[in-house]
Amino acid sequence: MYKIAVLPGDGIGPEVMKQAIKVLDKISEKHNISLQYKFSDVGGIAIDKYDTPLPEHTLKICENSDAILFGSVGGPKWENLPPDKQPERGALLPLRKHFNLFANIRPVKVFKPLKDSCSLKDHLIEDGIDIVIFRELTSGIYFGQPKYISEDNTFAIDTMKYSVSEIERIAHLAFETARIRNKRVTSVDKANVLMSSILWRETVTKLHKEEYPDIELSHMYVDNAAMQLVRNPNQFDVILTGNMFGDILSDEAAMLSGSLGMLASASINESGFGLYEPIGGTAPDIAGQNIANPIAQILSAAYMLRYSLKHDEAATKIEKAIEEVLSKGYRTKDIYTGKKGEILVNTEEMGDLIVENL
Ligand code: NAD
Repeated sequence: MYKIAVLPGDGIGPEVMKQAIKVLDKISEKHNISLQYKFSDVGGIAIDKYDTPLPEHTLKICENSDAILFGSVGGPKWENLPPDKQPERGALLPLRKHFNLFANIRPVKVFKPLKDSCSLKDHLIEDGIDIVIFRELTSGIYFGQPKYISEDNTFAIDTMKYSVSEIERIAHLAFETARIRNKRVTSVDKANVLMSSILWRETVTKLHKEEYPDIELSHMYVDNAAMQLVRNPNQFDVILTGNMFGDILSDEAAMLSGSLGMLASASINESGFGLYEPIGGTAPDIAGQNIANPIAQILSAAYMLRYSLKHDEAATKIEKAIEEVLSKGYRTKDIYTGKKGEILVNTEEMGDLIVENL
C-alpha cells in the first residue's frame, strides 16, 4: 500500500488533478498497485483557510507519504503578499528543502502526433523527442559560499562547489534511469575551464567504470550541449548535469515541446521520495473553465509511479495511452490547431479518453 499526498493547489490545479487521480485509479486497478490518497491544501487556498501556504497538517501528511503529487500554486489574489508568504516561495521551496529533494528530473517528451508544435524541422524529430534531464538541485553555484557583492559595489562573488558525494548521488540516479531506458548517459560540464567540472567528470567516469559498465557514457561541454539540443535532440537519452547548467538546458529543452500543458517534472531525494508536478503554473486565465490540458498532471502521476513507486511498466502504459489519444486527433484548446482530423475536447473529456485507452 502506497500513501500519496495529493496537493492540488490553486487555479487549474484541482481540475487537472482530478484527471490524474482518475488515471491513477484505473492503472492501479489494472496493475494491482494499492494507492491511498491523502488530499490537503497548499498555496493560496491554504493561505485563505489557515493563513499560511504550507500548513503544518499538510506537511505532516507529506511526511507520512511515499510521494507528493503536486498541482500548482499561486494567482493574482496572493501576488501582493510579502515574498515568504507567497504561495510558490512559501510552499514549494520549503517542501524541496524539508525533504532534501536534491535531484530534479525533467523528462522532455514530444509525442509523435504533436511534432508539428515543436519548433525544430520535421526530419529532426521524425519519432518525436524523448530525453530525460537529471539536474542537481541543492548545490553548485546557486548555493556555494562565499557569495556576496563587495561593500563598495565594485565586484561580486559566487562560488561553484561540488563534493564527490553530491556528484555521485545524482549520477547514480541518472545511470539507473538509463538502465530502464536506452542505456546512454551524456554528462554535461565545463571541464575545460572549471575545477568543479573536472571533479564532476572524474567522479562520473569512476562511478561508471565501477558500477555501470553496461551503460554508454559520454561527456559534453555545456556550450556544445546547448547547440546539440536544437541540432539533433534525439542523440540524447539521459542528460546528467549540475544545477546551473541543468537550469538552462532544461528550459531550452522544454521549449521543444511546444505547450506548457504537456510537461511535468520530479524532484526526489536519496530514499526515492519525490514531489511530482507540472512545469506550468496555475493558469488563472483559464482556471475553472474545464479547458485546461490535464496531460502534464497525468504525466506527473506517471513519473511518480516510475521514480518513487518503481512501477515503470504502469508509467509506460500511461504514456502510451496519452500518445494513443493524441494520435486519434483529440486535443485540448492549448494544442488544438484546427487541422483536419483534430477533435477539440475539454479537460474532463481528455482525462476520460486517456483512462479509456489504458
Ligand atoms: P502559467 O504556466 O500558469 O500560464 C502561462 C500560460 O500557459 C497561460 O496562458 C496558461 O493558460 C497556459 N497554460 C499553463 N498550463 C496550462 C495547461 N495545463 N493547459 C492549458 N494552458 C496552460 O504561468 P503564469 O501565468 O506566469 O503564472 C500564473 C500563476 O502560477 C502565478 O501565480 C505563478 O506564480 C504561478 N506559478 C506556479 C508554479 C508552480 O506551482 N510550480 C509554476 C509557475 C507559475
